[in-house]
Amino acid sequence: VTILAIESSCDETAAAVVKNGREILSNIISSQIELHKLYGGVVPEIASRKHIEKINQVIDEALDVANVSLEDIDAIGVTYGPGLVGALLVGVSQAKAISFARSIPLVGVHHIEGHISANYIENAKLEPPFMCLVVSGGHTHLVYVRDYGKYEIVGRTRDDAAGEAFDKVARAVGLGYPGGPKIEKLAKEGNENAISFPIANIDGSPYDFSFSGVKSSVLNYINGCKMKNVEIVKANIAASFQKAVIDALIEKSMSALNDYKVEKFTIAGGVASNTTLRLAMQEICEERGIQFFHPSPIYCTDNAAMIGVAAYYEYMEGTRHGLDLNAVPNLKIGERR
Ligand code: ATP
Ligand code: MG
Ligand code: FE
Repeated sequence: VTILAIESSCDETAAAVVKNGREILSNIISSQIELHKLYGGVVPEIASRKHIEKINQVIDEALDVANVSLEDIDAIGVTYGPGLVGALLVGVSQAKAISFARSIPLVGVHHIEGHISANYIENAKLEPPFMCLVVSGGHTHLVYVRDYGKYEIVGRTRDDAAGEAFDKVARAVGLGYPGGPKIEKLAKEGNENAISFPIANIDGSPYDFSFSGVKSSVLNYINGCKMKNVEIVKANIAASFQKAVIDALIEKSMSALNDYKVEKFTIAGGVASNTTLRLAMQEICEERGIQFFHPSPIYCTDNAAMIGVAAYYEYMEGTRHGLDLNAVPNLKIGERR
């Protein structure tokens, strides 16, 4: 089964060709980061317009690199939510057009289920059930993957997503957008024990996260330094903030793994490309005898290969969407429309 996958939920226009679920024949990503940098974040209108400009070229390139033509494609997988509605619509419309013109089955995919499925690409032995920590720009979820396509939400953030916290703190220390990679780089030069930023625990919800408190305490710390005329060591802020976030992610993930008696753990989403986070997770999993899996950085941030993987398992389960498939900006994990 050969799947052409399309992803346009945010600021990456991406297409990929995926064979039999786990073999990536091509993975083309056109990022708009340089464009949105000017504004300190993604501007939805600009994102939609850029997707329209790029999508044909990106799809052609994905087919070219994979050395296949549309005749070889068995199904088209496309992200239909969650994300920016205008951005999603570009991918969904393109997928529907190809599906209609060539009579190729259409399979709509949930973006976050795609992120989770990225774990299958380089881990041939990974099969459900497993626990996945999704840490991306808009989501922070602990998801129990009971089977292919069967997702149960175990915990979630009550406010900011982990990636969002990285982006906001980066802005506060003047690092620009996107903040995650910049914080990670600067943190390497700092002392992670220099400043104690608190981790929030939510009463009665041991697997839920909260990151707005950490973000606020960073802002308060910076203001405090300015008021007292104390030197601000940005590297120490970056390292200490990153540590606070990682500690929270580890603590909740480990209690969920323990309570659910799950022995396999995976991470997914843009923040999962953070090396310090990955190494910390690896270490604690080794200590506890938990098998740990993670995607390479290129499959952590937005891409279409992960959408092709998720689409494959949906396709095998019999999922087919009609030409009435619509973009669903607030689509829930595990929800089917
Ligand atoms: P979502 O998937 O929730 O819809 P998104 O698609 O915008 O949101 P991703 O592309 O998965 O998010 O990830 C982008 C996020 O990952 C950004 O917030 C970015 O700062 C963060 N990020 C990327 N690299 C790193 C890193 N090395 N360390 C920490 N955060 C990172
Ligand atoms: Mg992005
Ligand atoms: Fe994403």
